[in-house]
Amino acid sequence: MKNAVLITIGDEILSGNTVDTNSNFIANELKNIGVRVSQILTISDEIEIIKNAIKAAFEIGDLIITTGGLGPTRDDKTKKAIAEFFNDEIALDEETFNHLKAYMERRGRLEILERNREQAFVPTKSKVFQNHYGTAPCMMMEQDGKLLFSLPGVPYEVKPLIKDQIIPYLQQKFSLNYISSRIVSVVGIPESILADMIEDWELALPRNLSLSYLPVGTRVKLRLTATGENDAILQQQLEEEIQKVLPLIKDHVIATSEDKIEKILAEILSERKLTVSTAESCTGGELAKMITSNPGSSTYFLGGIVAYATEKKVEILKVKKETIEEFTVVSEQVAAEMAEGCQKLFKTDIALSTTGVAGPGKGEDGKEVGTVFYTIKVNEKVVTSKLYMPHLDRLDFMHFVSQKVIQDLV
Ligand code: ATP
Ligand code: MG
Repeated sequence: MKNAVLITIGDEILSGNTVDTNSNFIANELKNIGVRVSQILTISDEIEIIKNAIKAAFEIGDLIITTGGLGPTRDDKTKKAIAEFFNDEIALDEETFNHLKAYMERRGRLEILERNREQAFVPTKSKVFQNHYGTAPCMMMEQDGKLLFSLPGVPYEVKPLIKDQIIPYLQQKFSLNYISSRIVSVVGIPESILADMIEDWELALPRNLSLSYLPVGTRVKLRLTATGENDAILQQQLEEEIQKVLPLIKDHVIATSEDKIEKILAEILSERKLTVSTAESCTGGELAKMITSNPGSSTYFLGGIVAYATEKKVEILKVKKETIEEFTVVSEQVAAEMAEGCQKLFKTDIALSTTGVAGPGKGEDGKEVGTVFYTIKVNEKVVTSKLYMPHLDRLDFMHFVSQKVIQDLV
């Protein structure tokens, strides 16, 4: 198996201004062709630091991919560092210059500045992959059978370079296969019974396909993985096998890919023709936002109330004053009454409610930050749960709680 090291270069990533999304994308693409990423480094735009990082990376990886620092501005130093590392000169590459000229003309810029012309200078030993979405080309250097690819930093330039040029190049160079997976999420049957139900199908799977069982909470995820030379054929094979297995377990399947929980909820609610509404306090609307993030949610989501102030819980959601006085506003009883009021207000099959302390200060009634009660009311059945997560900041807390509510519901 080939090993890769990814190096992101740029002070703006180290300072926290830019989140490194390139590594995430590249690692995923490499995984699809069976290349293991053994290290991801982020370093600053300094020649010595870049050279040292390349040296160290070559000791553990067969393949290095750097992104960033190839722009026409002075703060971009990657190209110089690479030339120095490989004891090479930088020279104008005619083909790259013509590509650059054509690229700029297409964008209506007829005059090429010296700064831009410099983009067509590359190390003389490099192989160039032209960039169709920007001015800095991708350069590849080879040493003792190991490869270094240097890409610009802008994610929308990185993606096509990787997907359309570098991945196919690596596949050919190292005879690498594609690996692709599909997931089928199953509920309501234990793993062992599931295995019996699909045994014949599993035994008849083509040799390049394998199946694994991944139990997650009350669900079992079936992961079907295919390996082969042609990604399109793999996708087709996976689809065919999924279509064969679905009828065997159809009443238990809730999703057939790595779907987000909101999407799984959508499938369940649409299929069972159930409606839902929300009454939120500490989640501030996040729960409604998550539910409505799925297209088509208007068929099952009827509405939501963010009753943040205590008196609004009483006024709009008909929570009893006495309940609040007796148990405080962050309590199981208030969560349950919020859900009840919400269900009546919106006339839905299901009502969801949250009440808690998102922090950073304590709740008015002295409840600890991170405490939350949430209710799931399905018709007459009420289930209220408590969570305590003092370690999360406000936004993470809101998101986590909302996700938990949806997870419990599905
Ligand atoms: P440019 O020609 O735009 O200067 P460059 O190759 O020099 O390209 P950088 O200057 O390092 O690339 O980055 C350009 C922009 O791309 C950054 O401002 C940042 O917004 C984005 N970027 C850079 N690296 C990353 C990364 N690892 N993940 C996500 N975005 C990034
Ligand atoms: Mg730059």
